[in-house]
Amino acid sequence: MAFPPIDQQYLLTFLVGLLNTPSPTGYADQAIDFTANALSAFPALSLRRTRKGALVATWPGQHADAPRALTAHVDTLGAMVKEIKSDGRLKLTKIGGFAWNTVEGEGCTVFASKGERVRGSILLDKASSHVYGKVVGEAVRDDENMEVRLDAQTVSKEDSEALGIRVGDFIAFDPRVEITNGFVRSRHLDDKACVACLLAAVKALSDAGVQPAQTTTLLISNYEEVGHGAAAGIPPEVTELVAVDMAAVGDGQTSDEYHTTLCVKDSGGPYHHGLSQRLRQIADEYGIPYMVDIYPYYGSDGEAYWRAGGDVAVALIGPGVDASHNYERTHLEALVATTQWVVAYLTS
Ligand SMILES: [Zn+2]
Repeated sequence: MAFPPIDQQYLLTFLVGLLNTPSPTGYADQAIDFTANALSAFPALSLRRTRKGALVATWPGQHADAPRALTAHVDTLGAMVKEIKSDGRLKLTKIGGFAWNTVEGEGCTVFASKGERVRGSILLDKASSHVYGKVVGEAVRDDENMEVRLDAQTVSKEDSEALGIRVGDFIAFDPRVEITNGFVRSRHLDDKACVACLLAAVKALSDAGVQPAQTTTLLISNYEEVGHGAAAGIPPEVTELVAVDMAAVGDGQTSDEYHTTLCVKDSGGPYHHGLSQRLRQIADEYGIPYMVDIYPYYGSDGEAYWRAGGDVAVALIGPGVDASHNYERTHLEALVATTQWVVAYLTS
């Protein structure tokens, strides 16, 4: 098969739109809708939602004797209102695994109880250097001393409640998307970058009029960051699951922002050797450069499905993302390579 071209502009336009759609885990419906709307442009795929709110796309293949699935997640890190303080500011509880200092100073939106959106920012409660001196630098950031300063005139708990804010309201961190010299810098590239790769792969094959080799399910999951995203939604007849999620870049890692990576082991143990070997073979065959790596503090939706009892081969691929679960960055080269790998897998 001649390799179909990847529409890079489509990939980036979809990615920027998705990054700018807030979707902390538990409040990801808008991002699911955004993705469903984009996938609805491809009539070969039939779409449905699971009861849990994930998006499932079914794509009939040339064969259906060994159906496959790919998964990526739209949910992201975020927070919820834990407490409305007597001065009107908000204490938070984290959604997903991150350190408070990685969001300090970031703008945020509170999705208040009746649909109001209240803007604000995440700060240390002793934020002013001119008032608190070295405490600003030395305080260990935790649930007790981090807060939201609302961009509204509120000096009491009652004032903030009058804005519609209640305990349990969701909070999204501003992604701050910027594209420069092929670099995509944004929060939540984990895993919106990979959702964009899946869509770009669908577009490449659809534009070329090519059907996948096997009937394929795409699961766009909405609870990955808390560990059970793909526990449901994969049809039982599926024999292989490829999770598409970011590769972890840092000291001692082979992954980088310019490559796609095969993860052979993470915190959940080794992935399926046979499927991993086949993905390597496919990449070699199509001349797609890739890294092979191990991620020290990492779990994926592939493991979520294994833990839920899924009897499938599971592998994990994805683009290198620098400063993951922080202010992240990747490069278009890694996104295109990941998309090509998905295309090659789908057609092999
Ligand atoms: Zn992820």
